[in-house]
Amino acid sequence: MELRGSNLAAYARYSSDRQSESSVADQLRRLQEFAAKRGRQVSPALTFTDHAISGASLARPGFDRLMEKVRRREIDALLVEDTSRLSRDNADALILYKTFAFFGVQLVAISDGIDSMTKGAKLAYSVKALMSDIFLEDLRDKTLRGMEGRAHTGLSTGGLPIGYRSVPIPGPDPRTPAGFRIEIDEDGAATVRQIFTMYLDGDSQNAIAFKLNASGVPSPRDRTRHQRKCGWAGASIRVILTNDKYRGVWRFNERRWIKAPGTNKRVPQMKDPSEVITYERPHLALVDQDTWERSQRRIEETRARFTLAPDGSLKGKALPTRRFAHALSGLLHCGCGAPMIIHGGSGAIRYYACTGGRRGRCKNKRGVREGVLKRSLMAEITKMLTAPGVGDQAEKQFAELGSFRSQEQVVRAIAELEQRMERSPASARETLRELCARKPIVLTWDDQGRCVMSAEIVQALLLVKTPKGSALDAAAWSSASVLRCVVAEGRRFRRSRPRSGS
Ligand SMILES: [Zn+2]
Repeated sequence: MELRGSNLAAYARYSSDRQSESSVADQLRRLQEFAAKRGRQVSPALTFTDHAISGASLARPGFDRLMEKVRRREIDALLVEDTSRLSRDNADALILYKTFAFFGVQLVAISDGIDSMTKGAKLAYSVKALMSDIFLEDLRDKTLRGMEGRAHTGLSTGGLPIGYRSVPIPGPDPRTPAGFRIEIDEDGAATVRQIFTMYLDGDSQNAIAFKLNASGVPSPRDRTRHQRKCGWAGASIRVILTNDKYRGVWRFNERRWIKAPGTNKRVPQMKDPSEVITYERPHLALVDQDTWERSQRRIEETRARFTLAPDGSLKGKALPTRRFAHALSGLLHCGCGAPMIIHGGSGAIRYYACTGGRRGRCKNKRGVREGVLKRSLMAEITKMLTAPGVGDQAEKQFAELGSFRSQEQVVRAIAELEQRMERSPASARETLRELCARKPIVLTWDDQGRCVMSAEIVQALLLVKTPKGSALDAAAWSSASVLRCVVAEGRRFRRSRPRSGS
């Protein structure tokens, strides 16, 4: 076997599941021997190692450095003990193989006898990759035992919440630490304690988030490289208030991460409670037991107050969300103030009627066809926005908001919305809600029994193209125009009579 080029690299990875088999030092020694037999040598600068725990940690700094050099075409040949050192995931392994080929790197796996420059190497490599993928399931259990050991000795096994940091413990190899010790990070810890104090002082979770944002306290995400920095939110406060680690209880093995097939994304899955291992780590507790218990009581009480009716059933927001299949549902109100819902009709022909009417609280017993309402609404909006002079007026009003759409663009935007009303009613409803200034579209009946629709339309939403993601400001909301039109004659419903039981 010929080793190509002058830049010969070696990669070795330690994984606890194969600990007895071959340590990093052993692997490197074998790779050097292999090179020496061919009159070659791997320089320390091109020797890359990772002491990763297989399956548990995705961080492989040595591997990342290696790939950087591969991409810079600074490596001609790469030695590994066997291909599973590079990746145990079949899909990843094949991508790697192609990457090496693309950058002209000869891949040699000494114990597999694979040399990417020989005929049939790709097939051998693929089979090998597939095999290690299949066996990964079994290995995971063994890996877990390795992690358990680390967790047991108090070493870090993964990401830490705000208030803690991991400190590398120097290992035999100065470039790769033997493990990471968990320590309290005083800055973050102060924020965590402050949150508990504020909560027990009576602040709501949202109020705490608001105050922290106002005083510029960085949120957990602000400390990461995450792109969207959105500061504190009620939900992030809740996550902190309910994290057992802050009372010194560290759970391990709660969830597994499974790669969603066809993607490179891992999704968490909760494990059976019997598999969860709990460690008491009082020295890492940030709040005392009393603070913890009082906080949990308040969370529980608040939850009960807002989500449970006196009989213990769910109420209000806690109810499972209803999914509307109709674009106008939830937007229409009867003149009496009650919402109008789909009532009667069938298939494509549906009627909206007042819920109050059906419960005997409203005299209005008429229904209006859904299709007629949609057409009238869109026709009125189009008329309103394409009237002469509207564009100039808008330009004056919304000058600071962005560029203006031409009349054709406005018509196209309306047509798109109309199509969306059929294709994805839920999304169209959200747009309509915004377009109507988040106020209901009100239907009343005149003396002749005709239905009159009135709504406030925020013209700016369709006239002004705002930069992506920026919402229209309050000034735009307040300048909504009133739409008022006669829709159609209502259809009188026959009173549904309870069946007599004869
Ligand atoms: Zn009504």
